Amino acid sequence: LGRHRDDRRQSGFTYNGVEFSQSNLNIFAGLCAVDVPEHVDMMMKALEGHGEVCTRMGAYKPRTNPYSFQGHGKGCLPWVFEKAGKHGIKVIAMEITHESHIEEIDNCLEKLGRPTGVMLQVGTRNTQNFELLKAIGRQSTYPVLLKRGFGITLNESLNAAEYLASEGNANVIFCLRGMKTEAGQPHRNMVDFAHVPAVKRLTRMPVCVDPSHSVGSREQSPDGILDVMHATAQGVVAGANMVLVDFHPKPERALVDGPQALLMNELPAYLEDIRLCHDTW
Ligand code: PEP
Repeated sequence: LGRHRDDRRQSGFTYNGVEFSQSNLNIFAGLCAVDVPEHVDMMMKALEGHGEVCTRMGAYKPRTNPYSFQGHGKGCLPWVFEKAGKHGIKVIAMEITHESHIEEIDNCLEKLGRPTGVMLQVGTRNTQNFELLKAIGRQSTYPVLLKRGFGITLNESLNAAEYLASEGNANVIFCLRGMKTEAGQPHRNMVDFAHVPAVKRLTRMPVCVDPSHSVGSREQSPDGILDVMHATAQGVVAGANMVLVDFHPKPERALVDGPQALLMNELPAYLEDIRLCHDTW
């Protein structure tokens, strides 16, 4: 991925008609966790209305508390993928927490005639789950969104990307999502988007920012702008190539991370702000 000389080095890739590189920008707005078909449909329909072809949809949720909702798992895949096809969604970022999930996703997409594509997301808790990384690296059907580990060095997280590449899959996007600090205040994580240019300089990977899981709330500054929006702007101005962000039609009914979700009526201004920030490149 640019840190070690290797024939598999490359500077970007195209997946399901969508280009990912260090010089363009893709927005993945969507639900942190899939809940009910109505919400998935509302989200995808809104994205379609804005010409957006990517989204995020969590089916397998890694939760700190074992009694919290763990995601619908493979049961929701058929209707999520069908709805994505209906609304022209080409890539869904979907976290997996076990290698068996790759087969579940693949079987389901195959059965449906591949109405959409999936980017396999490795969450921050699994950045050093080496067996999972190796399993994901061994397949080359799906690109990978690798989250930075929240409590390890940047170098250690970049090595996780090398695990994927060394097994054969160099279609990797590296995602900054904030670092854990003792206090967890004022944001859930210390926003680390100043590292966007550093990762781009050190590697060839496109770099994603996740303002939702970095900030973790709908706190706003005195000017009325949400911290999630400020953080997004910082990331995009710094050169981010992808934005992964939580939206929800009814955050109060979201099963995971509702309090940090942006509202559907905030989508148009959010997309416009990103466009303006991107124009500063
Ligand atoms: C997520 O994006 O749904 C998520 C859980 O993120 P992270 O792994 O960064 O906490």
